Amino acid sequence: MSRARVLVMNSALGPLDYRVPHGMHVEPGSVVVAPLGPRQLLGIVWEPDRMPSDAEVGDNRLRNLLAVLPVPPLATPLRRLIEWTADYYLAAPAAVARMALASTSALEGAKLVTEYRATGEVPDRLTPQREQALERIGAHQGLIRELATIADVSDAVIRGLVKVGAIEPVSVDIDQPFPLPDPSHGAPALSADQRAASAALVADVEASRFQPTLLDGVTGSGKTEVYFEAVAAAILQGKQTLVLLPEIALTEPFLKRFAARFGCAPVAWHSGLRQSQRRRAWRQIADGQALVTVGARSALFLPYANLGLIIVDEAHETSFKQEEGVHYHARDVAVMRGKFESCPVILASATPAIETRQQVAAGRYAEVKLPGRWGAAEMPSIAPIDLIAEPPERGRWIAPRLVKAIDETLGRREQALLFLNRRGYAPLTLCRTCGHRFQCPNCTAWMVEHRLVRRLACHHCGHTEPVPRVCPECSTEDTLVPVGPGVERIADEVKLLFPEAKVAVVTSDTIWSPAKAAEFVGRMEAHDIDLIVGTQLITKGYHFPNLTLVGVIDADLGLEGGDLRASERTFQQIMQVAGRAGRGAKPGHVYLQTHSPNAAVMRALITGDAEAFYAAETESRREAGAPPFGRFAAIVVSSEDQNAAQDAAKAIGRAAPRIDAMEVYGPAPAPLAMLRGRHRFRLLVHAKRALDVQDVIRAWLGGVDWSAKVRVVVDVDPYSF
Ligand code: ADP
Ligand code: ZN
Repeated sequence: MSRARVLVMNSALGPLDYRVPHGMHVEPGSVVVAPLGPRQLLGIVWEPDRMPSDAEVGDNRLRNLLAVLPVPPLATPLRRLIEWTADYYLAAPAAVARMALASTSALEGAKLVTEYRATGEVPDRLTPQREQALERIGAHQGLIRELATIADVSDAVIRGLVKVGAIEPVSVDIDQPFPLPDPSHGAPALSADQRAASAALVADVEASRFQPTLLDGVTGSGKTEVYFEAVAAAILQGKQTLVLLPEIALTEPFLKRFAARFGCAPVAWHSGLRQSQRRRAWRQIADGQALVTVGARSALFLPYANLGLIIVDEAHETSFKQEEGVHYHARDVAVMRGKFESCPVILASATPAIETRQQVAAGRYAEVKLPGRWGAAEMPSIAPIDLIAEPPERGRWIAPRLVKAIDETLGRREQALLFLNRRGYAPLTLCRTCGHRFQCPNCTAWMVEHRLVRRLACHHCGHTEPVPRVCPECSTEDTLVPVGPGVERIADEVKLLFPEAKVAVVTSDTIWSPAKAAEFVGRMEAHDIDLIVGTQLITKGYHFPNLTLVGVIDADLGLEGGDLRASERTFQQIMQVAGRAGRGAKPGHVYLQTHSPNAAVMRALITGDAEAFYAAETESRREAGAPPFGRFAAIVVSSEDQNAAQDAAKAIGRAAPRIDAMEVYGPAPAPLAMLRGRHRFRLLVHAKRALDVQDVIRAWLGGVDWSAKVRVVVDVDPYSF
């Protein structure tokens, strides 16, 4: 009789033991179907000595495994990564493993999927719903449910359209192989600096050795071209490459660029994929067919059969930190995956995180530098505009010197970008008569007015409501006033100043899919846009040679709030947005509107002396015992019931162990005291580097009980304070 330990896909449970029925073959990593109560769950077979069973069950009471799925077993390096991630981030192993399985549907046996698409025929009976459906579906193809979502109608409407022949089924072969990238297709002639940099990276790929390397070079220095050489080397070896990008909106321009270099697009992995695309990608990644995958952080846990290289592009980006579900940092997990897979990991950045620079200083990561921009392109000039000495006109936000620069830029038929990291029209809307402010019903946050869609929106939970004509507090009509600027308000000001200019607002509200990003890039390239007003979404990845002016509307914005990383993040963000200017033959100019032109971070940006700034920042972190020299962990206790959350937080606080190497602050209301209807309290743990803080927290929380209404989440190495 043989038994198997199985990690079932239920985060509330640890591994359980099952009987392997006669004739069934399983091994560690096999993906199986296991019974649990009346349900059937997916599970992964695990080595018994690496995970203790959740319940000891005698041989005679074991239940039979139901099936083994016809997919390759998850390989040992991936299983070690799942264990490490669960351990380090104090997460349930099943919650981590679920990211590897991606979705149950990815594992179904069938090789053909039936999808649907419009035939072009218009049905005799065209109800408004049917009309809307056909209009929105356009050239899209997908499952009935996916088309219904795109069209915002019920499944029944789509099925009705199938019946009358306006939509037809099509078979999709998910085993159809992806085209193979050609390493020599569009290989550029590299400069001497680029050649030296790529040689170091290629050597690590050819040696198949674990080696994290910081690829450090200013924006436009050719980091992408250089790491493409490492990708080419991996392809020549028949090994797989994973490229992680910080933002799904970046995938589309990247796919185009990759295709120009390698003759075909890589495999894309992101949340916007259809089920058939997801299944096709998953299976071919798992059997080694898919050679290059590019994706957002979720691509990190896919079951690559034969991984030879990992690249984290824009590695300093904070969006690599996952703040929901399993709280992990994709940059750090990428390095661990490289370690388990024995392959090199390249972290590319023009403004590396202090954590990464410290790894280089400690000799754990190698560093490869690209000193200047490629070709004739020069770094842009950066000049401050002191808002106290040169204020904008009353009720305006763009200072006269920046207005003049925009005027000259547009006059030369060049393009400009105004950066303000604030979506919507104004950060705050209030009643002129009684001072009433609009607060989100679910969160401790003000609602933001979005004029383009005439709604108030919460940027934390997504709640929206129409902009009221009457103040709900004092009932006065038409009395709402916007306070402060958002991108939409800046766009209005530009249109007022330059009525002829074609202005585009670029935020997650307008660019919410790869297709929208592609459309935007097309319009920029066709010069159908003169001036962009954008949030951080516009700061990275884009290469527009005719864009020569960047104006930062409020350079001080990121410094508010006293976050540990505020200065560093401001430096990175402004360097990044400045890097959009003058990427071609024409020189770029950047203006920073600021109230504090003498702040250390502003001086570093203006003089270009990044090293002095980083040195001072690093020193102050060292003195404070802040990361990377010390560590933080946040314990967030939340519940819809405020008292239950507070009681649990207090109980956890009382049980805090007294250890020299660790301090515990709180509990106190979390920075967002209410989020999505849940009341939140937080304890902040500050520990010395040498302390195994995970072990301490595990033992500590293991000794406290809390009500079932309460959720406790630990955020190890938190980003939001
Ligand atoms: P980074 O990733 O450092 O911002 P990129 O790789 O995007 O820099 O390079 C900036 C621009 O310069 C791109 O348009 C790129 O194609 C071009 N470029 C860089 N190196 C070369 C080269 N050796 N030959 C041709 N074009 C290059
Ligand atoms: Zn909200």
